[in-house]
Amino acid sequence: MADRYLHVTGTAPGRFLTRKLGLPQPARLRRWTPETQSLDGPLLHLTAGDSSVTEELAALLAATGLPVTDRAGTAARPAGIVLDATAVTTASGLGDVHAALHPVIRSSAPGGRIVVLGVRPSADDHHQAAAQQALEGFVRSLGKEIGRGTTVQLLRITPGAVASAESTLRFLLSPRSAYVSGQVVELTGAAPDPVTDWAAPLTGRTALVTGAARGIGASVASVLARDGAQVICLDIPQSADELKRTAERLGATALPLDITAYDAAERIAATAPDGLDILVHNAGITRDRRLANMPADRWAPVIEVNLDSVLRTTDALLTSGTVNRGGRIVATASIAGIAGNNGQTNYAASKAGIIGLVRSLAPRAAADHGVTVNAVAPGFIETKMTAAVPLFIREAGRRMNSLSQGGLPVDVAETTAWFAQPASTAVNGQIVRVCGQSLLGA
Ligand code: NAD
Repeated sequence: MADRYLHVTGTAPGRFLTRKLGLPQPARLRRWTPETQSLDGPLLHLTAGDSSVTEELAALLAATGLPVTDRAGTAARPAGIVLDATAVTTASGLGDVHAALHPVIRSSAPGGRIVVLGVRPSADDHHQAAAQQALEGFVRSLGKEIGRGTTVQLLRITPGAVASAESTLRFLLSPRSAYVSGQVVELTGAAPDPVTDWAAPLTGRTALVTGAARGIGASVASVLARDGAQVICLDIPQSADELKRTAERLGATALPLDITAYDAAERIAATAPDGLDILVHNAGITRDRRLANMPADRWAPVIEVNLDSVLRTTDALLTSGTVNRGGRIVATASIAGIAGNNGQTNYAASKAGIIGLVRSLAPRAAADHGVTVNAVAPGFIETKMTAAVPLFIREAGRRMNSLSQGGLPVDVAETTAWFAQPASTAVNGQIVRVCGQSLLGA
């Protein structure tokens, strides 16, 4: 179901009328296309206080290929602003954050990207912890007020391992992250695996995507293939025709298989004799009803497809060594798993379960198997699943976020592709919302 409101506000009379009525003004988001692969303008590199990472960071930003300046007002309107706040360790030091951004915020280009760099709040120094946690409130508020399709994130890095942030900075400072805003990403500092071609970073990798016949899964398969991966698309046998079409379009392999089948992991392993480098658990279902009206036969399949089969296949594929070292597992949560949702006790439980799985398994999977485990948590994404939502709730879902519009499957796919990169070794145990900074949840 197309977003007609977005279409109307994209026309001059529509914009005039909706502005007069005080209605939301969604900006047209700048997403990746073959013609617009990077931001359209310079990066402004600012520093709050006396940072120890200025030179390394400058080198990373220069490697993006965008022109970089460290002085406001010297260049065209910045398309991206990186504020290094890693040195902010006191409440008074927060004044440096204000002093750096206040003069330039108005001049940032529409559809811009703002990334504030911080460090993990300390367990031993409550002044440092207060200052670094303060950045979270700052970033989330700026994301809500800035408008014009600009996104704002907090990226916590390890000062001794700035290079581990390259894939994340490239993602957050690009059109690929158009619908990701108000997020806090914390990197481990683990060294990145080498990337020979940033335009096709998944070359030579084999990926399996569940629920890939349509919707978000088909888009994930498509973006992973675009980035060079050889993809196996899995979906239920009842969707075999749609699955075959999707796989053929991408030069991928179709695997008609119900992920809840007892031998699913074995059959996946048999389809990938050289192992998997990327495993994307995307298949998911809803069976909505309030708990008082929800029989067990609406509860059980949601837990089974969305959570239990993910746990089972992950365990089996890790233990059997089917997921190769350097591998990437990406699961699919939901903002319903963070905020809860009326009529979705089963679904929200399954998606919150995914968050628990990721947080617990990530450090062990890295230590034992050299594999990262992360999750995307989509907000309102325009798919068949959300087209089935009643009109009023659908409209609320679309508008109740900082970008005043629903996301597209490709937004979730781009985030998945960033997790999947060889250079994203330091991205582990993260739950990244792809929700345009939805008002629901944290
Ligand atoms: P969709 O219904 O359009 O597609 C889901 C796909 O999963 C379908 O092709 C379906 O056949 C497949 N599938 C279902 N059960 C399966 C099974 N047992 N084995 C194999 N494949 C199976 O849904 P979507 O909107 O593309 O959602 C994809 C994922 O994103 C789901 O996990 C969903 O919960 C999550 N999500 C979606 C939204 C949204 O707004 N669309 C929001 C939050 C989370």
